[in-house]
Amino acid sequence: MPYRSGQKPGRGTYVCTGCGECRDLNYDTDPLPSCDRCNNNLFTRY
Ligand SMILES: [Zn+2]
Repeated sequence: MPYRSGQKPGRGTYVCTGCGECRDLNYDTDPLPSCDRCNNNLFTRY
């Protein structure tokens, strides 16, 4: 089940499904942003 940008899936590392770029969320209140590299909106948990 992928996570979308704008959701707050909690602290952890997420991987862009488009390009594989990793993104860390440091706080449970952080919303998942769009991918910096490819602007994709879907991520999976690392
Ligand atoms: Zn990407």
